[in-house]
Amino acid sequence: MSAVAAQRSTGTAPGAAVPPSQSPIATVPPVPLEHEDLVLRRGRRSGRYMIVAIQSTALGPALGGVRLWHYPAITDGIRDALRLARGMTLKAAAAGLGLGGGKGVICGPEHLPTGCERRDLLLDFGDLVESMRGRYITAEDVGISPSDLVAIGERTAHVTGLPAEHGGSGDPSPFTAIGVEAAMRACARDRFGSPELSGRRIVIAGIGHVGAKLARRLIHCGAKVAVSDIDPGKRELARELGVEWIPPDEEMVAECDILAPCALGGAIDGANLPLLRCEVICGCANNQLADDGLATAIAERDILYAPDFVVNAGGLINVYREIRGYGEERARVLALGIEENLGAIFEAAAEHSVTPLEAARAVALERLADARRQHEALA
Ligand code: NAD
Repeated sequence: MSAVAAQRSTGTAPGAAVPPSQSPIATVPPVPLEHEDLVLRRGRRSGRYMIVAIQSTALGPALGGVRLWHYPAITDGIRDALRLARGMTLKAAAAGLGLGGGKGVICGPEHLPTGCERRDLLLDFGDLVESMRGRYITAEDVGISPSDLVAIGERTAHVTGLPAEHGGSGDPSPFTAIGVEAAMRACARDRFGSPELSGRRIVIAGIGHVGAKLARRLIHCGAKVAVSDIDPGKRELARELGVEWIPPDEEMVAECDILAPCALGGAIDGANLPLLRCEVICGCANNQLADDGLATAIAERDILYAPDFVVNAGGLINVYREIRGYGEERARVLALGIEENLGAIFEAAAEHSVTPLEAARAVALERLADARRQHEALA
């Protein structure tokens, strides 16, 4: 989900009205138009604009969630779709999946749409997805719930992440947590010379769906886990887990081996970067860096940053299994593969004297270029 943008998602009620000052696109610069397709359509039932952006299908059908959000202007929604589609291309390519990148956007009203109004939006979006004939496959994103996907699924088969009782792969967070733990092992090997997480102090900032499952896994590994959350109700969970509670205003500067941002985007910014007291940053949140340029400053501070789109690919792997027909075990193995994938990215970064973020991008772009060359050769 956003530079600071999409991640505001978490904690926001589905389709909730958002004051323009908090608009997810407010800080996002214009996006280069390098996409295969950009479709803007006005829903015949809802009268609302909806967008599908397909950045690339070089590796497979473009998969990406649909966001229901109120944008100050349609152009903001278009820009958001273009930007997010690009991120999905990189995430799938870096994970080595046979998927392209795309994104859907429903430009919703200022208020939270419910009842028939919401259903009309979803059915209209389903029609738009169906008209793309499988080149775009949709899934859940900000403002969309699993039951919304069921409604979209009334109009198209090209929908993933449905609840298990509707034949889908269900909640992706267990797979995301498996992947983050695997990524942490790669980080530990690179930074401390051993993948062992036992005894490592790990601070998890945000114990929602993924963060809580990650905490349980890390406790099981013998890590010294500390957690924080802006929801004071989560203190009870910390107590239940038997782990240290850190006040949310101290989470980013807590001394630890691994800092795991697992809440909103933009967790690391120019203000808190000089104050960080961790060796490694490795968490599930999307767009953890307020600005990608911070990757260089992080490296200069001798902190190892694991690129978020590599670390959190477990959720995408989970829906990928719906497309490939994989079982749970195969998806688990793929999510565990994030350890090796990230290890290779760290090696490439060291070899070429670039940041892990640059190396991850290069790996993804190389896979895309290979796929394009193969398509050209076949053509
Ligand atoms: P969630 O909404 O279940 O949990 C987020 C938690 O973070 C909540 O408990 C919230 O109270 C807390 N929080 C919000 N702001 C905070 C802050 N400043 N400090 C501490 N805690 C804060 O979301 P989730 O599904 O666990 O996802 C977490 C992040 O991971 C999001 O950025 C999401 O986009 C990303 N992600 C999730 C998945 C997945 O499988 N769910 C997959 C890939 C990426």
